[in-house]
Amino acid sequence: MSLEDKFGRQYDYLRISVTDRCNLRCIYCMGPEGIKLLPHQDILTYEEIVRFVEILAPLGIKKLRITGGEPLVRKGIENLIGSLSNIPGIKDVALTTNGQLLAKNLEKLKEKGLNRLNISVDSLRPITYKKITRGGDLNNVLAGIKKALALNFSPIKLNVVLMAGINELEIADFLKLTLDYPLHVRFIEYMPLDNHDTFWLNRYLPLQVVKDRALALGYRLNSYEGLPGNGTAEIFQINKAKGTIGLIHPVSGHFCSTCNRLRLTADGKFKPCLYWDEEIYVREAIGNPQLLTGLIKEGLCKKKEKHLMAESNPDYRSQVNLRSMAQIGG
Ligand code: SAM
Ligand code: SF4
Repeated sequence: MSLEDKFGRQYDYLRISVTDRCNLRCIYCMGPEGIKLLPHQDILTYEEIVRFVEILAPLGIKKLRITGGEPLVRKGIENLIGSLSNIPGIKDVALTTNGQLLAKNLEKLKEKGLNRLNISVDSLRPITYKKITRGGDLNNVLAGIKKALALNFSPIKLNVVLMAGINELEIADFLKLTLDYPLHVRFIEYMPLDNHDTFWLNRYLPLQVVKDRALALGYRLNSYEGLPGNGTAEIFQINKAKGTIGLIHPVSGHFCSTCNRLRLTADGKFKPCLYWDEEIYVREAIGNPQLLTGLIKEGLCKKKEKHLMAESNPDYRSQVNLRSMAQIGG
């Protein structure tokens, strides 16, 4: 039995949001006051998350990503990672983090079975970083990246949400970083989630700007294949670079036809697509594998062919009730 939708897409990748809490307030993710937090009792326990994955692994789920909110603010996260990486059939456990608490936690996360890391770092300039994250300390993230290099994590991906007038002038610095270090920069288009309409309209940048900038700097971008977990990114490498550059452009060019990912939200909802508001509450079914499998299949049947984030669709906002990435699990 496998997880397939009515468009023939097969699913082997599950993103698990372990919390909606976060120690930052990134300007593209939430307002300065944060999001309305879930009561603690509404958040799935680690035992429930492990059981959920034990039921889905025999159906073809092989890769997991732990995300949030900020996953490292949840106590005992290393134990969850340990339990998940021991589930038969699970081949890869990755983490997306803002890096603020990474340096001091990474060794034990690795010991427990964490394979891969995405670290969000939208600026390499302390003041801009602080402005984007509303208070984050760039030194903490850089310490986390250094630790990841020292512990030989590979690949180490750096997530960079590109925004007009905020970090667009840093494209060259990020490109240069891949020349000097085995770091894999993933530029991500700013997606119109949550309630920042005007802000999004003013700040959104299509990622063609990265290619244009690279060419203007005289770099030749070679297509690159072979890095694990590159489902949605267009990957390039500058000649002689140690790292790579990835472009994730859900807005200017969606990749829905190759989507292989599903989501479990922190409050126990199965979410077949990041964009549409279809969510199925599965917490109550976690103790009943047959019921849970039925609900997952029902969710997959409802999954739409594609999202409607494209900038060419001025009505995108009236279509759905969008939740921020911190609520959905980015
Ligand atoms: N707190 C962790 C972090 O920041 O890495 C994990 C959760 S965060 C929601 C996951 C990813 O979603 C981050 O790389 C973040 O930059 C990205 N993200 C959040 N809101 C976004 C938006 N509106 N458009 C594009 N990416 C977004
Ligand atoms: Fe927190 Fe990550 Fe959202 Fe930033 S992007 S506010 S770090 S959840």
